[in-house]
Amino acid sequence: MRKPAIADIMEKLKDERGKKVIFLSHCLLNENTRYLGGASRRACVDEIVDRLQKKGIGIVQMKCPEQKAWGGVLKREMLMGYCIKGTWLKAFLKPFMILFLWKTKIYFRIIAKEVVSEIRDYIDSGFEVSGIVGIKGSPSCGVSAALDLKKSAQFAADLDIETLSSEYFNENCYKKCMAERSGLFFEELKKRLSSQNINITFFEHDLPGEISGKESNVNFDQIL
Ligand code: SF4
Repeated sequence: MRKPAIADIMEKLKDERGKKVIFLSHCLLNENTRYLGGASRRACVDEIVDRLQKKGIGIVQMKCPEQKAWGGVLKREMLMGYCIKGTWLKAFLKPFMILFLWKTKIYFRIIAKEVVSEIRDYIDSGFEVSGIVGIKGSPSCGVSAALDLKKSAQFAADLDIETLSSEYFNENCYKKCMAERSGLFFEELKKRLSSQNINITFFEHDLPGEISGKESNVNFDQIL
C-alpha cells in the first residue's frame, strides 16, 4: 500500500477551518506594547477583532518589532533618550541615533524575514492571506504615514519631566514628526514580499485617530 499524499489526507480530514488569515500588528491585540502614553484601550482594538471574527478570518499576531529591538515591553533603549535636554547625554544623541538605527534595521530585517516565511507557508499550504494590518503613525508599523525617528528622538530628548503628560506627548509628537512614508519595519516587510513576488493588501489602523477617541477606520469589506 502506498503512503497517501498530503492532499488525500487533507481531503479525508476536512474540517471547519476558513482557510483565510490576516496578519496584524501586535498592538492591535495587545496595547501593552505601545509606547508609553500611546495605549488608549486596555487590551485589544475590539472592533477590528469583531470585524474579522464576523468574516471568519483567522488572526495572526506579528511580533512587536520595537519590543524586540528596543529593549523589551517598555522599550527601555528608546526611553534612555527621553528628557535629556541640558544633560551631558544630549551631546551623544546623534552618535546614539546612528547606532540605534543600525541595530533597529538589523532586528526589523530578521523579524520581517520570519513574517514573510510564515506568509509563504500559508500560501503554499493553500490558505489565503487576506492582508497585513499596520498602524498609521508608528515609526515601525506605519503603512502610509510614520513618525520620523530622528525627529521624534529630538522631540523626546527635549521633553521636560515637569510638564510631560500623555496628552502633551501625543498632540505634539505627531504634529512635529509625522512623515508620509512607511515605518521601518513595514518597509522591510514590503521589500521582502516584493522580492518573493507575494502580493498582499495592506490595511492601516489610524493610531492618532484611536488616541483621540475614534473607532478604528479599518474596513475589511474588500475581503470576500
Ligand atoms: S505599532 Fe508596531 S512597533 Fe508599535 S507597538 Fe504596535 S506592533 Fe509594536
